[in-house]
Formats: sequence, C-alpha cells, structure tokens
Amino acid sequence: MRNDRSLNRYVSAGGTVVYKLPVEAFPGHFTNCYVVMTDPVTLLDAASGQEGSNASMLDAFRRLRDEFGVPVDLSDVGRLFLTHGHIDHFGGLNFVVEQSGAQIGIHELDASVVQYFKERLILNTKNLHLFLDRAGLSAGTVGKLLTMNKWSKDLFRAAKVDFTFNEGTLEGTPFEIYHTPGHCPGQVCIRLDDILFTADHVLSHITPNQSPEFISRYTGLGHYLESLKKVHAIPGLSLGLGGHEDAIADLPARVDETVKFHEARLEKTLGLCDRPKSIKEISRELFGERQDYHVLLAFLETGAHVEYLYERGRLAVTNIEDVEQEYNPVLLYQRQ
Ligand SMILES: [Zn+2]
Ligand SMILES: [Zn+2]
Repeated sequence: MRNDRSLNRYVSAGGTVVYKLPVEAFPGHFTNCYVVMTDPVTLLDAASGQEGSNASMLDAFRRLRDEFGVPVDLSDVGRLFLTHGHIDHFGGLNFVVEQSGAQIGIHELDASVVQYFKERLILNTKNLHLFLDRAGLSAGTVGKLLTMNKWSKDLFRAAKVDFTFNEGTLEGTPFEIYHTPGHCPGQVCIRLDDILFTADHVLSHITPNQSPEFISRYTGLGHYLESLKKVHAIPGLSLGLGGHEDAIADLPARVDETVKFHEARLEKTLGLCDRPKSIKEISRELFGERQDYHVLLAFLETGAHVEYLYERGRLAVTNIEDVEQEYNPVLLYQRQ
C-alpha cells in the first residue's frame, strides 16, 4: 500500500470544502479520514482507535489549524460516517464520540460489526477455519492463521450505532450513499456533488483485498465486480477520494484498470488449474511464499477467485466422492 501523508483541501462543485487527514491507523499504515465542512461538521472514518492512531488524528486536526488556518477541531464533529466495517476505518469511533459526541452512522450490513464486534469476529473466524481446512493447509498453519485473524479481538469496545444507511440520499445532508459490497459486506461509497469518497472500494494504486463469500455474505469477487460497474456508471464525477493512498483523478479509468486486473488474475487462476489443485497450491503459484498476515491475505484473495470461477462453472471439484464421504475434505479444482 502506498501511504500518502499529505493533508489536502478539496472543494466540491457545490462549494463544500473537504480536507483529507492522513491518520496513521497502525505503524506505517495510513488511513484517510475526511473532514467535510457541512453544518454540522461531518467526519468520514475514524481510523483504528489505537493510541498512536488517536494521537495521529489529533495531530492532523492541529495541522488543519496551523497550516490551513481552519478553526475546526475534533470536538466540532457532529456526525461520523463509517465507510465499512474494517478496524482501520471504524476502530477510532469511541474516541471520536468521547471527544465530540458525534452521531455514528454505518451501512446496515456492517452495523453488527460495531455493535457485536467480538461475536462477529468469532463467527467469521469459524467460517475461515472451514475455508482454510478445505484449502489444504496443515493444522499448524491453520491454527496460526486463525490466531492472526483474531488479533484485533480485544482491541475494540463494542459501541452503539445511532443510524444506519443503505442506499440513496441521506436526508438532511448533501450526501448520497452507494452500497458497493465486495471488499466488505457494508462497504459504501459516499457522493458529495462531483466527489465520490470511494473508501476501500477503489484505490489509486493497489487493488483492495478480496475474500470468498463462503466466509462472509456480501463479500466475494462477484459482488465486488458488480459494485465496480455501479461506480463506473455514476455520471458527473470529477474526483475519487479513497480510504488510503492518493486522490483518483480519473475514476472510470481506475475502475477499468481494477476490473482488468481481476480478469487477468481469473485467467491466470484458470490456467493454473490444468490438473486438480487445492487452493493452497493455486495460491502458492499465484503469490509465491508470503510472510505473516500476507499469507492469510493471499489465501483469501485466491479463494475469492476460485470461488468466482467455480460458481460460474469454469472450475469443477474433481474429488466429489471425498466431499460426499467426509465432513470437510480438501477440495481439488480443475478447469472445465
Ligand atoms: Zn477495508
Ligand atoms: Zn482500509
């Protein structure tokens, strides 16, 4: 991920001023939070809520005053929109609420992540366990990856959501919500005049991580590609502002690149399945040896592509007798 530490000012076609605050959510990992100068002030995303993240957010507000002369503080925020249920975006909501008393809104499909954080993570990890066993990993590796997946279990104190949204104009605000599931079930892009806050749906350099819908409903590559089409079709946009990295000047072109990237990865995956292979084997050939959390991300990304191809009849499971006989055997895929 390319970190962009610049604090930037944008003005929407309707004259609303927006500031991008680069917040160091985790060491070396920056999340873009946006201050929108509406009445009341709107904040998009809250970063991770870790001590360093909160300090980084306060520092960004300080820079806003010192470098841009904007007399606005975190305590002035009246509402906080969360773009999706990943901890580097919502984890700081308790801090924001303590500092400002802001009302919190999130898409209805991610509201339970905030309200029942631990439960949702534990259930998600259970599905991940089934997926990793099917992928062909050793028990030792599965154990390590499951522990890794739960690393944030005790980081966040569950919080009450004040309002949820789904799709369309948010009454009493200049914002319009587009539900764009795929990277996360409740992923949204938020429109302000000619600006689209693309969150983690479209980024300027990297392609957001994908995971199979088998683990969590409304994720998966099928939903993601549909959501890319949806964003591509929005007329009248002149700027995309992502949840990480730089601004996106030509959003339709970046969407096209992202689609092409996944099409190429799908073809490559298909090409690798000339004989029966497990997701573990396919992942190794796609990504090589990965370390730490990247091992898990590689398996999830591979799983999403294999699932997409399997659901569309382009890959078949060749060891179906095992599936009939055993509880949760390793699945072997081959192209049709
Ligand atoms: Zn995310
Ligand atoms: Zn993110």
